Amino acid sequence: MKKRFRLVLSLLVLCLLFSLTGCGKSESNTTNKTLLVGTNAEFPPFEYINNDGVEDGFDIALIKAIGNEMGYDVTIKNMEFKSLIASITTGGLDASIAGMTITEDRKQSVDFSDAYYTATQYIIVPINSKITSLSDLNGKDIAVQEGTTGDFLATPADDNEVITDSTTNVKRFKKGTDAVLELKNGGVDAVVIDANPAQEFVKANKESLKYIVEDTSTEEYAIAVKQGNTALLADLNEGLARVKANGTFDQLVGTYINGTSTTDATTSTNPFVKFVDKLDRVFVQTNGYMRLLNGLGITISISLLAVLLGVALGFVLALMKLSEIVTGKKTIFSRIANIYIDIIRGTPSMVQLLIMYMVVFHNRFGFIAAVLTFGINSSAYVAEIIRAGILAVDNGQMEGGRSLGFSYGETMRYIVMPQAIKNILPALGNEFITLIKETAIVGYIAIQDLTKASDFIISRTYEAFYPLIAIAIIYYILIKILTKLLNLFERRLRKGDIH
Ligand code: GLN
Repeated sequence: MKKRFRLVLSLLVLCLLFSLTGCGKSESNTTNKTLLVGTNAEFPPFEYINNDGVEDGFDIALIKAIGNEMGYDVTIKNMEFKSLIASITTGGLDASIAGMTITEDRKQSVDFSDAYYTATQYIIVPINSKITSLSDLNGKDIAVQEGTTGDFLATPADDNEVITDSTTNVKRFKKGTDAVLELKNGGVDAVVIDANPAQEFVKANKESLKYIVEDTSTEEYAIAVKQGNTALLADLNEGLARVKANGTFDQLVGTYINGTSTTDATTSTNPFVKFVDKLDRVFVQTNGYMRLLNGLGITISISLLAVLLGVALGFVLALMKLSEIVTGKKTIFSRIANIYIDIIRGTPSMVQLLIMYMVVFHNRFGFIAAVLTFGINSSAYVAEIIRAGILAVDNGQMEGGRSLGFSYGETMRYIVMPQAIKNILPALGNEFITLIKETAIVGYIAIQDLTKASDFIISRTYEAFYPLIAIAIIYYILIKILTKLLNLFERRLRKGDIH
């Protein structure tokens, strides 16, 4: 047992080290400074994930050009729009570029560079909608991207002069594409969003949606940095001025804003052709299948590492709890273990994940944060599995061992544990299966797991059906295979018993 335990531990440490070096790498060289820039790559044409799966768009190209000009190695970090400012204030990011409008509220938390783009808000509605202006949205259902200026414009509030009807229902989504999908599926009457993304979204859905040019006040996009970081701000402004002066800026406007092309929806009426076209669009054209495969790899690695960590921690916890039985009264160890298990089992894993990622890791090392969260979470359940497994071994075994002259530890090691393992292993296998399904929430901390891969495809193609069914099938097959393997393993163990 000891050997196996050591093996598991060293494997875990190795894997963690491996992912640490993989996740935390920032190629710095001696001349360039590094610049970690956050964005929310769901806002075409300013930022989106391109077909190769990397962040692209006007903002991304702009910040890279500025970095190039000023001697910075720019690393892009894709995250939720509403987390950008918090990440800058906590130091998790050096800056953000995300089509972010300068607002008085935001200025309380971050400093903005010179503005680089002027925008307005548009309204997207179904093609046959009667809505023609912002004030028509009073009392309607509106979808927006959470925490954006579109959200502020659509939400009834004291300082909102247009939307005054308090029955107006605003549905907030993490991504503009999700808001558009909601509109497409009939869940809302309109979407309020910045002009350029609105045009992109309508272009990709021109058979069903249209936009209304609303004469809202203009907004200025700028790069945000931590308050008081004047050196960086000066560099960014200088870089911006230079790329404007040397023509790069206009070139980028030409490439990304005036000349973008989105995959057009199929126009054929033949249902079979339509079906094949859709499959092609969803899984091939956008490299969807690659996203799914990569996502599957990430889901499996997080679950596997977490279950290993869970077993290691769970074993220690189980021993701590069992100390109560050995001594016949509550010990400091059993008390600590009980509190730990109580807290872990009493809080949602989603909340644990967010605390680990945002509070403990300051929005960095998402992969490690996920492994630790699920490992710790699982350990509370594993502890019970191991404890119950050990207690299920007949007491006579212990008595027998002791009467043969073995010490308590020896009896545990040579007589009780080998039998307990047979009770424990199948339950641990089930724990692994549960974990695989539970990790589907890691997309919340921007990890591209299997579930998140479907998200990517949906936001590129506006098709929810195929990608979601596809990941459901993949999870199902994965779990079926594991269950089969487990059953086989269990049968083996039982055979060992008979011999
Ligand atoms: N310009 C809007 C804002 O700053 C939307 C930005 C975005 O969604 N990326 O709120």
